[in-house]
Amino acid sequence: MHTPRTWTNSPLARIARMVLKAPRVAMVVGQTVHLSGTSREEFLADAEWVAHEAVHLRQYREHGLLPFLWKYLVESARVGYYHNKYEVEAREEARRVVLADPGHVLRPLPRHATPPA
Ligand SMILES: [Zn+2]
Repeated sequence: MHTPRTWTNSPLARIARMVLKAPRVAMVVGQTVHLSGTSREEFLADAEWVAHEAVHLRQYREHGLLPFLWKYLVESARVGYYHNKYEVEAREEARRVVLADPGHVLRPLPRHATPPA
């Protein structure tokens, strides 16, 4: 996986952060990870977090930007954020990545949002 493009102090991620009342947020739009409340260094140092957002980057590539945004929002409206199949896929994949690297210390996944809902 190559290092993702990030946008720190993203206004979009700041809005998501306020809506979610989360201390830090990463949110993928297209092929950019929008960050708020965290630095690029802090984000990249968290293997599980990076793996989670990498799944969303792949989902955007597979579906296309607008189709994915639409499908994601429809899915979120149907079943909510947590059960959204695109979030389930990202969580499960990120967990697999961390479990495959026994040197990585497990810790709770930070709150994040993808994309704005
Ligand atoms: Zn996600």
